[in-house]
Amino acid sequence: MPLRVQEVLARSVVHRSRIPGIDFVINPYSGCAFGCLYCYADFTRRFHKGPEPWGRYVDVRVNAPDRVYRELRRVPAGSRILLSSVTDPYQPAERRYRLTRRILEILLQRPDLKVSLLTRSPLVVRDTDLFRRFGTRLEVGLSIPTNREAVRRIFEPRSPALDRRFQALALLHQAGIRTYAFLGPLLPCDPEDLGRRVAPFADEVLVDGLHYPWKVRALLERHGFEHILDPKWYHRAVAVLQRVLGERVQVVGAPSPLRRRRRPEPYT
Ligand code: SF4
Repeated sequence: MPLRVQEVLARSVVHRSRIPGIDFVINPYSGCAFGCLYCYADFTRRFHKGPEPWGRYVDVRVNAPDRVYRELRRVPAGSRILLSSVTDPYQPAERRYRLTRRILEILLQRPDLKVSLLTRSPLVVRDTDLFRRFGTRLEVGLSIPTNREAVRRIFEPRSPALDRRFQALALLHQAGIRTYAFLGPLLPCDPEDLGRRVAPFADEVLVDGLHYPWKVRALLERHGFEHILDPKWYHRAVAVLQRVLGERVQVVGAPSPLRRRRRPEPYT
């Protein structure tokens, strides 16, 4: 099924967040062209008008910058805002629509706010000039859940290649931007090599486990990767990362058990 990109109007885009350390989230798009198979954000599909499954549609919230301009009035000074929690702010549609960039230009006018960006896309490097103007109140994160390209192709077949993400992290860091690597959900990998590759270019490293394993259970079994659901594997990998990266490592979660259970969506 081809990707469907359509323009929509959003009623509101600045939302309070339950993510630890994040006060508000902004999602300029709904849906995501990267369509990672383990993605936790597919619950947002209920807002999409159309038959496309998760990963095959992008709703471009064309009025998002206007909404941000208005809704920022109720965001208190000192708040930290994340772009984004349930979409990728630098997915391919951003090349044309530039919503993330326009929202950042608005956020620049609020020097009392802190901003975190998180993406899998090397397109993020395009906005380095803007990031510089934020100074230390902005940080940019690259999601890099494995060091093995073959694993990336299994679980994230439409996302950017890992080499391009490592390179984006390096370019941002070399440009003087505060950076972090998000190693999550930690997929089958060589944690020693993964840690060494991000070490020179990440001021901080966040590690998280796989939260909705039943979504990729068949894939895990087909490729002999069930071991990543074992908390012991995860803790060993984290220990290696801590040895390589020291105190920069922050563990933000652990793999969920395979048994399906209801839990609140944690990343909204
Ligand atoms: S890039 Fe993020 S939002 Fe997009 S499919 Fe992957 S995990 Fe989900």
